Amino acid sequence: VALCEAEEARPAGSKPCVVESHFNWRLFWQFLHPHLLVLGTAIVLALGAALVNVQIPLLLGQLVEIVAKYTREHVGSFLNESRNLGTKLLLLYGLQGLLTFGYLVLLSRIGERMAVDMRRALFSNLLRQDIAFFDAKKTGQLVSRLTSDVQEFKSSFKLVISQGLRSCTQVVGCLVSLSMLSTRLTLLLMVATPALMGVGTLMGSALRKLSRQCQEQVARATGVADEALGNVRTVRAFAMEQREEERYGAELEGSRCKAEELGRGIALFQGLSNIAFNCMVLGTLFIGGSLVAGQQLKGGDLMSFLVASQTVQRSMANLSILFGQVVRGLSAGARVFEYMTLSPCIPLSGGSCIPREHLRGSITFHNVSFSYPSRPGFQVLRDFTLTLPPGKIVALVGQSGGGKTTVASLLERFYDPTAGMVTLDGWDLRTIDPSWLRGQVVGFISQEPVLFGTTIMENIRFGKLGASDEEVYTAAREANAHEFITSFPEGYSTVVGERGATLSGGQKQRLAIARALIKQPTVLILDEATSALDSESERVVQEALDRASTGRTVLVIAHRLSTVRGAHHIVVMAHGQVCEAGTHEELLRKGGLYAELIRRQALDSPPPEAPR
Ligand code: ADP
Ligand code: MG
Repeated sequence: VALCEAEEARPAGSKPCVVESHFNWRLFWQFLHPHLLVLGTAIVLALGAALVNVQIPLLLGQLVEIVAKYTREHVGSFLNESRNLGTKLLLLYGLQGLLTFGYLVLLSRIGERMAVDMRRALFSNLLRQDIAFFDAKKTGQLVSRLTSDVQEFKSSFKLVISQGLRSCTQVVGCLVSLSMLSTRLTLLLMVATPALMGVGTLMGSALRKLSRQCQEQVARATGVADEALGNVRTVRAFAMEQREEERYGAELEGSRCKAEELGRGIALFQGLSNIAFNCMVLGTLFIGGSLVAGQQLKGGDLMSFLVASQTVQRSMANLSILFGQVVRGLSAGARVFEYMTLSPCIPLSGGSCIPREHLRGSITFHNVSFSYPSRPGFQVLRDFTLTLPPGKIVALVGQSGGGKTTVASLLERFYDPTAGMVTLDGWDLRTIDPSWLRGQVVGFISQEPVLFGTTIMENIRFGKLGASDEEVYTAAREANAHEFITSFPEGYSTVVGERGATLSGGQKQRLAIARALIKQPTVLILDEATSALDSESERVVQEALDRASTGRTVLVIAHRLSTVRGAHHIVVMAHGQVCEAGTHEELLRKGGLYAELIRRQALDSPPPEAPR
């Protein structure tokens, strides 16, 4: 919150500060520190398990020693002599299992809780970002930070603690016991293992690179299929099936080549590493055997040595795999944390509210200039001045792409002007609480209303959380929607499907109107609200809009001039400026741009309600 307020003081239009994208340890610590106690316990258990693992080869060696003794001379009872050792081993196995169980449970608990906390924090910070942020980012990218990046980070974290700790302890512990068993053999091992590991790591990184290329190629193929299937109507309409098949086929072929190359690489790696490991076992046995023959080493110790050296090798292989995982986990974490620390220029809340009884709803644009942050060089509005008198309807007309929707966005404070200011009852919008402005003052109805995949009741209530059922019905009646809603078998409980797919355009628009009306907005913006509708729905929707407009400050944005004739004041926009203003008759008499637009539309579409 402190950050947001600090941001607010900065000059309008400045870009949000992009935080360096390296891993943010401070944030990570914030997520980790509630779990420190559990994490500490998990670490102790993991260390315990690793130490037990170090003990096991030593005991196994002693057991082998006893076995060897009985193969030489068959006196005494093998069972008696080995019982103690066997029990000890069994106990260690049990202890090892228990410790492993314990630390895995604790780690998964920490990991899952951290992932939930991180997702929640990231989601909430994403929702707070400026609209300009979303202009520049792909939704899919943002969602993947929430899902796969958090997932990747979580599994890396768990793996590093469990495997990493364990492998390190085992390497150190086993090396100690190895050197106690036989210094000579250990030295030999210390030379051979790192050399092999080096070769293995090199090959491994080449394979990882190949595997990444392979994944990218698969993603390309998936992209082609996704595009074709998702836009099947367009593909069908252009009879492009065969071309799409060929395109997909080519990408598939590419991914096959890469995958086979990767397969060969993995096969080579496996084969070579099998040979290497086996040679090392043989080498150890051979050299160790000669030491045993020279009475410099006991047979059981050789056995211990073999098992322990295997543990070292396995642990080191684990560590090298882990290294790649750490790199991936850190970069995933950096991606997650990047957007968590990003603070928007326009905060969601904070600022003053005007008490309802004093709110008049007069809006003025004072010499506003504006360019979109995603396209800084391109001025959409320049020196734009416009007043919306309280309780009056003002129509804004002009060419498509002329900046009409931009005016509405500035009024909702989705963006701040680059220069000049927008005021509500004389107050600069930048001093007013944005949540109050959007939630209670301004109602916005756009050309393509977006509904949420829930019931009609919930969709209308979106405009005012906590509205009573009665308020919902009233709003729906005002919006001419009550009738069609009650004609559905499930009435207000009808689920509208994702993005309202199960409703017609006119029905969706009327729900959107009800949703905007339920908050009793003082200012209403209608951005081409009827232009996507057929003439019959347009009539019904227009009727609802006319009713909704009375007594409110209304900005009607319209492409089709038939809908603006009833406005108190008509403003014509061109080149980001107001170029004409007046009533319909005044403007017609003037014979300027408006008259020209009217004349052209009359030519284009003789019946005024014909679809565009
Ligand atoms: P209108 O509503 O009058 O058709 P808009 O206000 O939507 O026009 O757009 C005005 C200009 O701003 C257009 O040139 C458009 O390309 C550009 N524009 C609109 N939205 C954005 C955006 N989010 N980012 C960058 N440029 C935009
Ligand atoms: Mg528009």
